[in-house]
Amino acid sequence: MGLLALGTPLVWSEAKKHADYVREHGIEQFLNIWERLKDRTGDRLLWGDEIEYLVISFDEANRNACLSLRQTEILQDLQADAEARRERGKDVVNGNGAVATGAGKEACIPVFHPEYGRYMLESTPGAPYGATLEDLLLVEGNMRFRRKLAKSRMKPHEVPLTLTSFPRLGAPGQFTDPYYPPGGGVARSLFLPDEVINQHVRFPTLTANIRRRRGSKVAINMPVFFDEKTPRPFVDPTVPRDRNEWPEDKNAREGAALDDHIYMDAMGFGMGCCCLQITFQACSVGEARRMYDAFVPVGPIMLALSAAAPIFRGLLADVDCRWDVIAGSVDDRTEEERGLKPLQHDRFHIPKSRYDSVDCYIADTPFNRPEYNDNNMPIDPKIRDHLIERGVDPLLATHFAHLFIRDPIVIFEETMCQDDAKSSDHFENIQSTNWQTVRFKPPPPGSPIGWRVEFRSMEVQLTDYENAAFSVFIVLLTRAIMTLGLNFYLPISKVDENMHRAHRRDAINTQKFYFRKNVFDPKPGHPCDPSLDAVEPQPVPPTVDDATLPSASAFGRGRTNGFAAHVRDASVASSDYPASPTVCSSHAPSRSASPTPDIAFGPVEDEFDEFSINEIINGSKEKGFPGLIGVAERYLDGLEKEGKVSEEVRKGIDRSLELIRRRADGSLITLATYIRRFVRSHPSYAHDSVVSQEINYDLIRALDEIEQGKRPAPELLPDGWRTGYDEDKKGKGAFGRCCGDVVGDVAADDAQS
Ligand code: ADP
Ligand code: MG
Ligand code: MG
Ligand code: MG
Ligand code: MG
Ligand code: MG
Repeated sequence: MGLLALGTPLVWSEAKKHADYVREHGIEQFLNIWERLKDRTGDRLLWGDEIEYLVISFDEANRNACLSLRQTEILQDLQADAEARRERGKDVVNGNGAVATGAGKEACIPVFHPEYGRYMLESTPGAPYGATLEDLLLVEGNMRFRRKLAKSRMKPHEVPLTLTSFPRLGAPGQFTDPYYPPGGGVARSLFLPDEVINQHVRFPTLTANIRRRRGSKVAINMPVFFDEKTPRPFVDPTVPRDRNEWPEDKNAREGAALDDHIYMDAMGFGMGCCCLQITFQACSVGEARRMYDAFVPVGPIMLALSAAAPIFRGLLADVDCRWDVIAGSVDDRTEEERGLKPLQHDRFHIPKSRYDSVDCYIADTPFNRPEYNDNNMPIDPKIRDHLIERGVDPLLATHFAHLFIRDPIVIFEETMCQDDAKSSDHFENIQSTNWQTVRFKPPPPGSPIGWRVEFRSMEVQLTDYENAAFSVFIVLLTRAIMTLGLNFYLPISKVDENMHRAHRRDAINTQKFYFRKNVFDPKPGHPCDPSLDAVEPQPVPPTVDDATLPSASAFGRGRTNGFAAHVRDASVASSDYPASPTVCSSHAPSRSASPTPDIAFGPVEDEFDEFSINEIINGSKEKGFPGLIGVAERYLDGLEKEGKVSEEVRKGIDRSLELIRRRADGSLITLATYIRRFVRSHPSYAHDSVVSQEINYDLIRALDEIEQGKRPAPELLPDGWRTGYDEDKKGKGAFGRCCGDVVGDVAADDAQS
């Protein structure tokens, strides 16, 4: 979360009057950062994850599993622990005897943050990881350590569960501990009590102002899963259509609640979901922009692969993912902006919610062809012109001119007046309420932090083994992208189509996804093109480390100097990103740089094809596609040949890649599929899509038992996923430099942002 400053929030009618002011100063604040730091280079490749948890409260006697609303107390206790620890002056390490290379010891106490749901926690490692492969071995242990810390401050009947959506949030009966009836003046929900919202004034204000700006409650409708006995049409009997407490209550009977759908009417349904996010620092703004672009087409693929949310409001859905629910849950667009009425009071017709997929690529490279940005994307032309006047290039100017079509939703009276040279609060107000699949994060003023990119599409996984595996995979993919100069460009309209397909039930096995055919080459017909078998391999200049390049034997083709020249010195990228500007010279020349390579692009339509997730991840010989694991391994193989990968590291990485490989090839199922099967085979399930309190209790119990290693789930997790877990107490397991025996001793840092 961006701002958590205390203050007096303005109601929407007031905030609205200051929208232009906040935008104007936000842009000025960005320009101050840009002008100071656009040429900054040599930052290290640091990265870190964010994991969100539901706090579950089990009611044994009534066989009910609820959401515990004790977020505040738990966070306070974790903070007190951390302070006590600091006062005693003990060394605080990662909990695994090793300090992540990103920072000093003190910083390594994990950080816990509040989240939107009053039953949620978020944790991050106390310090970001560094660029070494060895740091990848710390990830799983660190995640487990954080879970242990969180659990140490919960009651015996509570557990932190990394589950994307709580199945019975908003369903009839008790789903919070303590119980509150639905309603309240903030969300005015038919299903959720306002008490599920984090009580910090920022969150209720955000909720209420979204509703006020929109002119109605948000309306989320996810298709219901039709089981054998689900009535058709499905008119949900649990929607209290007759309620007459708030003016918005009529929304449901006047068309907001669709038949055959699961209707949800509050921000909590979306922002109350949990996810797994990874943030990377790039060594320069140019590299951050290329990383951002490469992540864009990967977003929907990882959403499908991590699918974990098949139930909403006590009903089985015909989708497996949370994303569209969150998009709908903060959709503050007015009827005019949504195109339901002609524009009269508002400025733009806006096709997407402020929580949605990325709308444009931003990298300053010739491979970023204008044709890829094929979405109808409103921008504020005044902001764009102003940014360009002040020296921002048109691509980045367009990106921010698009984000800044949105209004600030929460404005604190006390923080209106800011020093634009020192603060980025107004900028972040708009920036951090544009929740897209990838986020380009400028350096905060006055901090040592560099240009960063956040990968945001993934659903959180049940176990830390899985969360670590998804994180490690994305880290390796990033290295491969930057080191090998991979090209993932795909028209944005196709990325959006992939987002829709990613939601479909069992998308891994039923859907095809658009992806670029040749990730090594900017243009079809280039000698790297897998379709050109006959081309002779060509010599490679000596500055390029052969081992890390896609080898001709693996993909059947040679390559030209033109390609090789775009590749960063791989020996340098292999272990770390040192602070030398030469390292940061891009693999791809900037648009303005000359001479640009002589690239003859063909039609965009020839560049991509439809692939299964298995093909995209594991590759396809037939299609000459290496797969995302293939490119990650190629990168690793190169380092291995140089003796830069220890056996321990390789083992740890293989342990992670096994999960990704097998989820993609269907030999392991997603959590969404596991949950759906569990419900459908439950003895009390009536095959009517309804997930009762009893089924929910058994399901949540089962998930917790799997996480604790007390219940086998070989269809979900590979054998040996807990290898090393039981040796924890000694501080070292086969894989695990896992948690030492430290819980209750070491505690969490305060929520710093
Ligand atoms: P958000 O604003 O997305 O909520 P958080 O502060 O919760 O961000 O988490 C950001 C993640 O980025 C954490 O895992 C943190 O360790 C990591 N991180 C912190 N500093 C850097 C940095 N300079 N470069 C890369 N990652 C960083
Ligand atoms: Mg965070
Ligand atoms: Mg956050
Ligand atoms: Mg979060
Ligand atoms: Mg984040
Ligand atoms: Mg933060």
